[in-house]
Amino acid sequence: MKITFLGTGTSHGVPMIGCSCAVCRSDNPKNYRRRCSIYIQADETHLLFDTPPDLRDQVLTFGVKQVDAVFITHPHADHIFGFDDIRRFSDLQKKHLPVYGSPDTIASMRSKFDYVDRRSHSFGGVPRVVFTEMTAPVEIGGMRITPVPVMHGTDRIYGFQVESDRGRLAYIPDCSGIPPESFQALEDLDVMILDGLRPGKHATHFSIEECVARLQRIGAKKSFMTHLTHDSDHDALQASLPPGIEVPWDGLALSV
Ligand SMILES: [Zn+2]
Ligand SMILES: [Zn+2]
Ligand SMILES: [Zn+2]
Repeated sequence: MKITFLGTGTSHGVPMIGCSCAVCRSDNPKNYRRRCSIYIQADETHLLFDTPPDLRDQVLTFGVKQVDAVFITHPHADHIFGFDDIRRFSDLQKKHLPVYGSPDTIASMRSKFDYVDRRSHSFGGVPRVVFTEMTAPVEIGGMRITPVPVMHGTDRIYGFQVESDRGRLAYIPDCSGIPPESFQALEDLDVMILDGLRPGKHATHFSIEECVARLQRIGAKKSFMTHLTHDSDHDALQASLPPGIEVPWDGLALSV
């Protein structure tokens, strides 16, 4: 499995509009953070996790040419408002794409993107998708994708664990609490990617300190924090972290 970080930034993205801090003005490309998404390829199967507002740029910049299924962690604006751009993939591949999420997420997607199901648009111009409520693992092209319920403030949303015969990873970009039963899905991971918003407490996200503690408890072979704000300079944050915990950047790709 090849995993590509398409975006590693918080809801504002970095640079943040109207900010002239050192990180927002930085010329280090590792400080340029689009909104969060990852892309997973295994043989002929290509999975996209979330459709952020930056999706068109992410797809063009990082060479995404095919999407076979989409998984939505939750329907916050920074994770879904690039959704319409997946219509290029349903057009190119001449098929309806399955879009998976929790029942609450799928209900919200149907409401926010109500035009997708409208007959009058069936000539094209809309993403052709099959909204699919997911409450159990699904298997696609030799990969098994399991929902991992987590708390995001008072909302119970999904992260996802992805497993093939080559390895196992988990992706939880927005999270302020992991219920005990969800830790079971995070055992024996090759790669763990977890929300580590910024230094200091936040109501709906793990802080960097909280993220580090969870990553150490989970103990994956490789650990990454994501959904980062402009409070963190890439290189300074990386230098401050314990060994084995890495700060990704947009475009970083790894294989398991
Ligand atoms: Zn988010
Ligand atoms: Zn800034
Ligand atoms: Zn969120």
